[in-house]
Amino acid sequence: MTVLEIDDIDTYYGNSHILHDVSLDLAEGEVVALLGRNGAGKTTTMRSIMGVTPPQRGSIRYRGEELVGKSPDEINELGLNLVPEDRRVFPTLTVHENIVLAHKLADDPRPVEEMYDLFPVLDDLRSNNGQNLSGGEQQMLSVARALIQRPSTLLLDEPTEGLAPVIVDDLREMLQDVVDQNVTVLLSEQNVNFAFDLATRGYVIDTGSIVFEGSIEDIRERDDLLEKYLAVS
Ligand code: ATP
Repeated sequence: MTVLEIDDIDTYYGNSHILHDVSLDLAEGEVVALLGRNGAGKTTTMRSIMGVTPPQRGSIRYRGEELVGKSPDEINELGLNLVPEDRRVFPTLTVHENIVLAHKLADDPRPVEEMYDLFPVLDDLRSNNGQNLSGGEQQMLSVARALIQRPSTLLLDEPTEGLAPVIVDDLREMLQDVVDQNVTVLLSEQNVNFAFDLATRGYVIDTGSIVFEGSIEDIRERDDLLEKYLAVS
């Protein structure tokens, strides 16, 4: 069943026309990659879905309900949750306080301890302040804060950005556990190998337009796409 259906959206920042006729869909439980270089429009697509930068044209339906015109809070309440590129953990709160706060803000949260089971790294860091965490630890905290809200669809915006390769491996393992829990995921990435490991289908975006859509196997085989749009040679 299709849960998220984006049809021909056009999104602007002021007068700058950023997204051109972007269409994509996600089925229940599916992990879909949105691949593209820096500045291709991945973040803008995420922001369009969440109502932060709503499209001026086109439609975005979530379980049949139109999202365009709804506020980010309303969209969040429908079960969509964005883990932004800049991670946004509270720097002066501890890991535990960050998780408890997200727990308090949710309507029907998962138990706090479940997050420590899913992210054992965080268990060891309970009393560390957000600002003292490494990039990878912040990313895990950020994902935990999102997951505790029991989202049915998670938008992950470049989770590997700025992370050391060994940390990327840890993150992949943990996200695999998340994926196994039947959460629907839209994963934006420049790190194509990371996305290939987690996703089954993908879209390639370039200068605000979708230039290819297909299975991960299809994308993997297209050396031309990888070279032209994804900085892999
Ligand atoms: P990145 O990895 O750099 O975040 P991205 O694929 O997520 O890449 P976007 O952040 O969606 O790309 O940016 C798409 C385009 O929109 C870029 O040309 C960028 O310069 C422009 N842009 C992004 N934010 C703004 C803004 N607030 N005002 C004007 N232009 C913006």
